[in-house]
Amino acid sequence: MAQHAVPSAAAPDARPATPVRVPVREILPWAIFAFVLAGVLLYFVGAEQGATSVFGGTWIHEFTHDGRHLLGFPCH
Ligand SMILES: [Zn+2]
Repeated sequence: MAQHAVPSAAAPDARPATPVRVPVREILPWAIFAFVLAGVLLYFVGAEQGATSVFGGTWIHEFTHDGRHLLGFPCH
């Protein structure tokens, strides 16, 4: 009987797939960091103007102005 070079999924001696382990304890701090960073960026693009402004002046508003329009935030 000839052996096939590529084993098929229907082969009787096929081993069950082993599940991939996801190291949640290693990923969690980076996920939290990415979430906070995304929140800060979203704040500066979407809400850093007018009454919700933390920094004075309009330089942050002007710097993120194109991103604000691109993401559909109300502007002017
Ligand atoms: Zn605008």
